[in-house]
Amino acid sequence: MGGLEYRRGMHQLGRGTWAYLSPPGTWGWSNCGLLVDGAHGLLVDTQFDLPLTRELLAAVAEVAPGVEISTVVTTHANGDHCWGNELLPRAEVVGSSACGLGMAHEVQPAELAALSGPGSPATPLGDYMRRHFGAFDFEGITVTPPTRTFTGQLDLALGNRRVELIEVGPAHTDGDVIVHMPDVGVVFAGDILFIGGHPIMWTGPIRNWISACDRIAETGADHVVPGHGPVTDQAGVAVFRGYLEWVADWARKAYGAGLPYWEAGDPRRLPAAYAGWGNPERLVITMAAAYRELGDGPHELLDVLAKTAAAEPR
Ligand SMILES: [Zn+2]
Repeated sequence: MGGLEYRRGMHQLGRGTWAYLSPPGTWGWSNCGLLVDGAHGLLVDTQFDLPLTRELLAAVAEVAPGVEISTVVTTHANGDHCWGNELLPRAEVVGSSACGLGMAHEVQPAELAALSGPGSPATPLGDYMRRHFGAFDFEGITVTPPTRTFTGQLDLALGNRRVELIEVGPAHTDGDVIVHMPDVGVVFAGDILFIGGHPIMWTGPIRNWISACDRIAETGADHVVPGHGPVTDQAGVAVFRGYLEWVADWARKAYGAGLPYWEAGDPRRLPAAYAGWGNPERLVITMAAAYRELGDGPHELLDVLAKTAAAEPR
């Protein structure tokens, strides 16, 4: 959509509906959503660490004074969307069952601190992790998974408003959920949508991710808030869907031709249309997942990340 500035903080999209944007939208800089009806408040996702989540909550108090956040929806298990959940101890945390499992089994804050903090390994991967994750504070985080889980679809009441939670994963992760607000025509897509940067497919399958884009299109929503990047519209979703179709097609060809996944994910192989998107090295992670669907692997996560670091254009 035109006209909405990509600036840190709250942006109103409709009555009782805000996107909280976190430029530049690169690794860990994720967007959230705020929904309000009367004294009732719902947050879509929290931030990567406690200081950033406190900043988010201060912005909530500013645009919605006196509103109690009674519900937090966690779109998926990646820490940049849920590691601030503990700062809302009175709220019910809602997510898919697969998201709940993922939060318990994903890389934990202390492990990410060890991989990206000052004492992290003096390797190209350590260098990559320090540069991309070193700004976050992973100390003292208690991972706080959903207390209410579901599969498929769950409708929540927020005052007199209906909030539709739609499970569209596994795609980016095992348990991706999007949040649709039919009364204002807004979708919060979590990491089903990246705008301006390359997405990361941790799990796939890619057909599910393409179907998830179709599900967003079916809502007819005018405003779509990505997990990372500026707010977009259905045309932006269609461009992103085209990227996923290219990934599916290229992975099949490259695997068939015997290229290893990290060569298929070399950013120099990107079509011109996507060459300007940020973090192109993340194509290596996506190709590893796409190759697993085709029978390659298993791949060890730290090895995939090391190959990603090596592919970063510098
Ligand atoms: Zn994210």
